[in-house]
Amino acid sequence: MEPLKRQQRKVDNEYTIMFIPHRGKEPKSFSFRASLLKKIGIFCGILLLAGIGIAAKSSMVVYQAHQEQNELIAYRNDKAAQDQKLAELQKENEKMQKDMAELSALENEVRKALGNNVSQQPSRGGIDRSQYMGKGGPSAPADIKMIDVTAAQAKNLQTEMQQKKAVLGDLLAQLHERNAKLDATPDIWPTAGGEITSRFGGRANPFSGTGYDYHPGIDIGNDYGAPVYAGATGYVEYAGWYSGYGRYVKISHGYGYETAYGHMSSIEVSSGQYVEKGDVIGYVGSSGYSTGPHLHYEVIINGQDSDPLKLIR
Ligand SMILES: [Zn+2]
Repeated sequence: MEPLKRQQRKVDNEYTIMFIPHRGKEPKSFSFRASLLKKIGIFCGILLLAGIGIAAKSSMVVYQAHQEQNELIAYRNDKAAQDQKLAELQKENEKMQKDMAELSALENEVRKALGNNVSQQPSRGGIDRSQYMGKGGPSAPADIKMIDVTAAQAKNLQTEMQQKKAVLGDLLAQLHERNAKLDATPDIWPTAGGEITSRFGGRANPFSGTGYDYHPGIDIGNDYGAPVYAGATGYVEYAGWYSGYGRYVKISHGYGYETAYGHMSSIEVSSGQYVEKGDVIGYVGSSGYSTGPHLHYEVIINGQDSDPLKLIR
């Protein structure tokens, strides 16, 4: 049975196609075996599959190229936006650096005005300048990106700004202190007009004209009733009659300063009262041991009598 089957399979039928033309021409015939038909079929099938494969592959390639192009456009747009942002940040940093320089110049002016040595400003400790700031060159190492440099600049500027704030706060406190001390310093002429009739220190006795007399202040001869001014800001320590001084006022200014006013015709303040430099505290007179209308004016520094003229501007 087996050999017969094999034989049957191997039978290769032959086919003939005849073309019979009209108008009585000779017919044409083509003969071929079934195996050839089968081969042509297989060949066409392979060709079809290959065609489908190529079409699919090329459409995939086209799709990927399109995707990549879109990504590239998006990246370019993104990069342009980032570059713009970076440029803005750099511009801002530059402006901040300029502002900082102006602030430093102002700070130095204030220091000078305060009589503060410029070189005494606190060190720039705490700032890590080793990273980027105050360094650089035409070419940076490839691993350092401009955005990082810009960020480092901004960070350092922020630190510097905070330090500057602290320094300026300190200077302002010094300025307030200085102003307070200035307000407390008896440096004005303590009456309206007048002239010195007796200086501070040793002098001849004004009553007997003979012998040594210690004068703890200055005498300013002036019209009766001329206003007497507080030499500096402070609190009235005493206001009233005080033996040889007649109508007398003593003011405590702080910072070791005190002033005293004698021989007034009237007193316009009371003990404990706050007075500002230049306020009227009374009027010139001749009360107490006095030879004529004048203001006896004393300046006491840390409990010691002092020549008032040394402070008067
Ligand atoms: Zn006097």
